[in-house]
Parts: sequence; C-alpha cells; structure tokens
Amino acid sequence: MYEHLEYYGVSKRVIEAMNKIDRKLFVPVELRESAYIDTPLPIGYGQTISAPHMIGLMCEYLDLKEGDKVLEIGTGSGYNAAVMSLLVGRTGKIYTVEVVEPLYKQAKALLESLMLENIKVFLSDGKSGLKEYAPYDKITVTCYSKKIPPALIEQLSEGGILLIPIGNEYVQVLKRIRKQENRILEENLGDVRFVPMV
Ligand code: SAH
Repeated sequence: MYEHLEYYGVSKRVIEAMNKIDRKLFVPVELRESAYIDTPLPIGYGQTISAPHMIGLMCEYLDLKEGDKVLEIGTGSGYNAAVMSLLVGRTGKIYTVEVVEPLYKQAKALLESLMLENIKVFLSDGKSGLKEYAPYDKITVTCYSKKIPPALIEQLSEGGILLIPIGNEYVQVLKRIRKQENRILEENLGDVRFVPMV
C-alpha cells in the first residue's frame, strides 16, 4: 500500500508498520473512499489527519526504536499513534495528548478497540507536555507553534529527539531538536503544513 513512500526516504520498517494500520478506520465514514490517498483529510472540529507521507517521514525523523517511550502532542484521529505503537513494540510506550474532547474520546475508543495496549491517550493541553511520565526518548508534535514550548525540552531525555513544526499560519518549518550533553542541537527538516497548536 505505502511502498511508494520509499521515494520520500521512508524506510521499509516504517512502511511495513503503516501497511498494518488501516487508515480507513481513522477517517470519517463519508471520506472512506479517499482514505488511501496521500493527502491530509478533515476529521472534524477543524482538525485533520496528516497525509501518509508526512506520518512516514515523521516516524523516520524520530528514529523510533523498539522500547522507546514516546510523547505525542495532538492525537487527532489516533493514526500516527497507532503506527508509532507498532514501531516501539511491546516494550515501548506511546503517551498521546489531545485537547479537543470529542477527538480524544473517539481516538481513545478506536485505539482500545484495536488492542494497541502500549498507547495511553490523555485529554489535556500539550503545551505543558505530560509531566507524570517524563522524560521521553522521543517527543512528536503534530500541530505548529510559534516557539518551542520549554516544557517539551525539559521533558526530553538526554540523547532524545523532539520533532515540532514551528512557524505561523503561512510558513512552517519542521524542526528536529536533540538534547546532547545538555546542549540543544537544532535542525530544519523543511516546509510543512500543520494545524495550529491551541
Ligand atoms: N497525529 C494526528 C494529526 C492530528 S492534527 C493524526 O494522526 O490524526 C493535530 C491535532 O493537534 C488536532 O487534533 C488538534 O486538536 C491537536 N491540538 C492542537 N493544539 C493542541 C494542544 N495545545 N494540546 C494537545 N493537542 C492539540
């Protein structure tokens, strides 16, 4: 299904995980015909499920490994969390935070029905991260923000990776931040389009 994502530089391991999670289950019923098109789709409440190539690239940039403890800000449909859950395996854990209550409820119910037991969904404002379970090996943010919320850097483990779109409603750059020996290294990974962090 997603073999073409290799052209974007997405690895076979990530593509295999994406092939195992049916995107159709994560889009509204009336959009099911479009579920496999490589484009973002509306999921209600002004939010979107990211395009498959963006999910693939973000998983790749995060270098997800078996056993990783991951924090996702912006659960949305839950699709990204489901793919990541396969990549971190049974010894890993995905903590995902959503601020829109109906989306939170829907994603939580769907992920539970798929028996992805290493995912925990929370209803809260992701700007402050999720202190209870910090530090995280990887943090991924699926909505853009003007600045990097300091809590997210604090909650990143030594050697960890934070992926976050930074910008405004017109221009956004995907940034990868690494915490190494208490230094913060920042890379720009290119232009992206995301919904805003509220
Ligand atoms: N990863 C998602 C993409 C969701 S779009 C997927 O695979 O479907 C981004 C999501 O971030 C939206 O659901 C939006 O409601 C949520 N969001 C926006 N601001 C937020 C905040 N401050 N805290 C938590 N979630 C937020």
